[in-house]
Amino acid sequence: MQTDDYLKAGKIAAEVREMVRNKDWIGKTVYEICEEVEGEIKKRGAKCAFPVNTSINEIAAHYTAEPNDPITIKDTDLVKIDLGVQVNGYIADTAVTVCYDSQYDGLVQTAEEALANAMSMIKTGVKASDIGRKIESTIKQKGFKPIANLSGHSLGQYTIHAGKSIPNIWSIGGFSLSENSAYACEPFVTTGQGGGFVRNGKIKNIFAINSRKKTKNAEADKLLDFIWENFNMLPFALRWITKEWEEKKAKELLEILVKKKAIQAYPILMEINEQRVAQAEHTFIPNENGVTVTTKTL
Ligand code: MN
Ligand code: MN
Repeated sequence: MQTDDYLKAGKIAAEVREMVRNKDWIGKTVYEICEEVEGEIKKRGAKCAFPVNTSINEIAAHYTAEPNDPITIKDTDLVKIDLGVQVNGYIADTAVTVCYDSQYDGLVQTAEEALANAMSMIKTGVKASDIGRKIESTIKQKGFKPIANLSGHSLGQYTIHAGKSIPNIWSIGGFSLSENSAYACEPFVTTGQGGGFVRNGKIKNIFAINSRKKTKNAEADKLLDFIWENFNMLPFALRWITKEWEEKKAKELLEILVKKKAIQAYPILMEINEQRVAQAEHTFIPNENGVTVTTKTL
């Protein structure tokens, strides 16, 4: 049943996130981190809802490791590790920021505090704009800035962004939370010098199916079928197809599929003033009296 699957996915996501939070990642490559974290999800009998994101410093989101990616975590880095678990397509989306340089503790703590404050006001009917207002005021009180053009989102089966946004700033209009729907809330916090916005970067290493229309290239169509069978509409990384396809070939075929618009490639998102960004994220289901945070720490 849907709710049970959301809860199952949430529990696994929370366990893995806390493992990530407590581990020392200094000296590890982003490839090692992604493989280890994804392995922890699979070990618990679930699937990854998307490639683990390891977005460092001014990269706010959407970086995942390339095959054997050598980028290595330094003791001065601030790393957002964002992970997704799915059970029968029902998703838990959660993130933690790891940082070993105490001068950035404030950013990390503020992202957590903004998330906790948001969670504490959730119940059916609460307006998304009021959640955004709470997140924004929590962050600004500390002298930091929210990232205005990143937001939380409704979730659907095999769908990470199901159409509704939960803003990180106060905004006009918006919707009210529905009973027994799943949402993710994810405050992003940057410094007072930050612009408070992200822009697209050049790197694109997360992909997802757009259309299953045949491309007339037999090999590309075979890859498209493989992607559909294994990941459905959910995001994937080059790392996830290089067991079946040789890396160079896989890259070529992906490029063809992107050109034909069968597949979409997502760029990394960078803070516009190149300031560091921290993130915290939970998945939750509102009810009449409050909220079930599916990814809550046990
Ligand atoms: Mn996430
Ligand atoms: Mn999310």
